[in-house]
Amino acid sequence: MTRWARRHENIQEDITCVELLSRVAGIEPVSFVRQHTTLPFRRGITSYQHSLEHGSPANRQILRLSAMRVARQGAYLCEDCVKSDQVTLGRSYWRRAHQLPGIYWCAKHRLTLRLVEAEDAFLAAPSAWLPESQELGQPWVQTSSRHPMIERFAQVCLGLLDTRKPIAVRAARNVLQVPARQAGLRMHASGKKTCTEPLLSDRIASAFPSEWLETILPGLASKPTGAIVSQVDGVLWMSNSASSSVAYAMAACVLFGSADEALRKFMAADKNHAITPQKDAAPAGPDVDALRALYIKGRGSYGLANRSSGGGQYRVRKCLGEIGLPTMALKGGRSMLTAARALLLEELDLMESAQAGGVTEGELLELIRRTAAPLIAALKEMDTADATPGRVTRRRPSMPNCVKSPRATSGRTRRQEATS
Ligand SMILES: [Zn+2]
Repeated sequence: MTRWARRHENIQEDITCVELLSRVAGIEPVSFVRQHTTLPFRRGITSYQHSLEHGSPANRQILRLSAMRVARQGAYLCEDCVKSDQVTLGRSYWRRAHQLPGIYWCAKHRLTLRLVEAEDAFLAAPSAWLPESQELGQPWVQTSSRHPMIERFAQVCLGLLDTRKPIAVRAARNVLQVPARQAGLRMHASGKKTCTEPLLSDRIASAFPSEWLETILPGLASKPTGAIVSQVDGVLWMSNSASSSVAYAMAACVLFGSADEALRKFMAADKNHAITPQKDAAPAGPDVDALRALYIKGRGSYGLANRSSGGGQYRVRKCLGEIGLPTMALKGGRSMLTAARALLLEELDLMESAQAGGVTEGELLELIRRTAAPLIAALKEMDTADATPGRVTRRRPSMPNCVKSPRATSGRTRRQEATS
């Protein structure tokens, strides 16, 4: 394709695969990505460059790394679609709507999809694979198409597939928080693995059939009640990184009465989000060097810095906190400054240093933790770089033909309770 394209025009050295495909198809890359890839679904809700339209040439790295990826393992086809394509169009096409997670039926023909597991399935037309495609005959697959929650899930996913641009993760979070708050669900992160408050992940686990969930988020259906699953429960609090589109879609299903309502609210919130000035657009922060000089002059107190900043006390605290300079202010003749000097300059041990300043060891330790702000920030970045946080599962979703039905056919009938 590259050779063919070069023959006609001067194309960029680093042209991406999806751009080549769009040239061959004679479609603008933006339209090609929007109409012929699953990228709009996979990037349906994101924190990263959410203002860029799907397929935008402004970030070709996204096109290079993400445009050609699949939304789920395996290739799925509808036998009736293949046949009708051949009659009406002369050849059959893979349908995007059939390649989304959790979708096992053709909405048009009300027919269960067939699975092709070959890695190179999409290199040939679906008609070529028809003879060796597998029928998904398990009863749960058959009933999933009629399950009201799965039907709602499919509509949300199709709505995301149809988006022109991603929905900002903060907008989606804000929308989901409203019904979640009403339902009393846990809405904040903590270092704990379990909690006693109702969890979104538990709501989802009871709302969807367990076999179907196994093909979406393995382990979710069998997790103990009260065990926090950050990639699911986190959709209610994550604002700087997004979970997967399926997590947001499932959350939308259990928190809203219909897919339409959820999608409409997501879009409206995203529109507002786009016109509200964001933190990034805030004017330049205070001069760090100047604040540091005032901190030293004030011997560890924020007073001077606060007075010079003209009322921006929050920003002073944030700015000095970020470079590891906590306030040393203490009342009642106790001196954190003396304790810090004893520990860090005279190198006494923690207990002696605390005694020197008349503070407790706990207070001194807390101060030291705050001086470690740059390291803490780096540690947090390391954690978010480890892809999606997750405690319940790192497993790949199961293929539908490998999911065995337990005796109970849906929901969580005999769940173990978490001990916290
Ligand atoms: Zn069909």
